[in-house]
Amino acid sequence: MTTQKPSLPTAESRKIQTAIDAVLKAIQLCEQVQAEMVSTDAIQKADRSPVTVADFGSQALICQVIGDAFADDPIVAEEDAQALKENASLLERVTVYVNRFYKDTSPSAETVCEWINRGSGEVGPSFWTLDPIDGTKGFLRRDQYAIALAYIVDGVVQLGVLGCPNLPYRLDAAEPERGCLFVAIRGEGAQLYTKTGEPLEPVHVSKAVHRFAESVESTHGDSEAHANIANALGITASPVQMDSQAKYGVVSRGEASLYIRLPNPAFPDYRECIWDHAAGMIVVEEAGGTVTDANGAPLNFLTGKRMQENRGIVATNGKLHQHVLEALTKL
Ligand code: AMP
Ligand code: MG
Repeated sequence: MTTQKPSLPTAESRKIQTAIDAVLKAIQLCEQVQAEMVSTDAIQKADRSPVTVADFGSQALICQVIGDAFADDPIVAEEDAQALKENASLLERVTVYVNRFYKDTSPSAETVCEWINRGSGEVGPSFWTLDPIDGTKGFLRRDQYAIALAYIVDGVVQLGVLGCPNLPYRLDAAEPERGCLFVAIRGEGAQLYTKTGEPLEPVHVSKAVHRFAESVESTHGDSEAHANIANALGITASPVQMDSQAKYGVVSRGEASLYIRLPNPAFPDYRECIWDHAAGMIVVEEAGGTVTDANGAPLNFLTGKRMQENRGIVATNGKLHQHVLEALTKL
């Protein structure tokens, strides 16, 4: 006998649909910016990391959609409008791109900044967290990047929508079609869609042990230690090096057995940002995998924008998890 899955409560399904709609819009904006990008579309933040017209535009669109639908929900997002307000030409560019999505109302530059600043919410009992472009360096290289939106209640990620506009449907296919959206709902599994929102298939980790994923940026991890862990697990294949939370997507589809992100020895005090992991984490968990920090501790999303109590990230197919943690203690 087949049993019908109970349908989701209306409030929950409204959150999911709104989050998907918001990320699909942001994907379109990011792709338009990427196709037309000029050198002045990227600036450096105070920490010297890049931020682009697309980061601001993506955050404006998503915060407008979420803020209008759920006015009481705080949004904790990566960007704020301060740097934009100090750069008139950049603000103009962002406003032009955002306006393409609001042909009837033509939002002003001020309105666009107000939408971006809706992302200055605080971590609390329930909140959204957003990385409008995760892997901005990958975006600038026209490589992998992600738009990552998650909804967290009592510290537990309930919903994750991860847009990966340049990720092939299948990583190793000869002529891959590109542009994926991962949607994960706590207790309901993870599903792959196209970047235009057409359902493709449910995603599942693979229990096979083949290769691991790590960041492209050598300073965002400890590649030597990653290689030692892989060695201890008997992994001989070269790693999948990829920007952004697309790495979680790759683990969730079984295209890598694990994603390792150990603190870089040059930055021992680095603490991971919540928006860099919340959406990716639920995608891997709902695909059957496990995600903890490098000590095996659960990720704590309640200590502010940064996960003060966690160090590093280990995301696996589940089966490998304990082996990785054991190998880590022997490093
Ligand atoms: P990835 O594309 O996986 O390299 O991750 C990009 C993210 O790395 C950015 O969004 C930053 O928040 C984050 N990041 C910046 N510096 C570091 C660092 N030293 N260690 C780990 N992550 C970092
Ligand atoms: Mg990021």
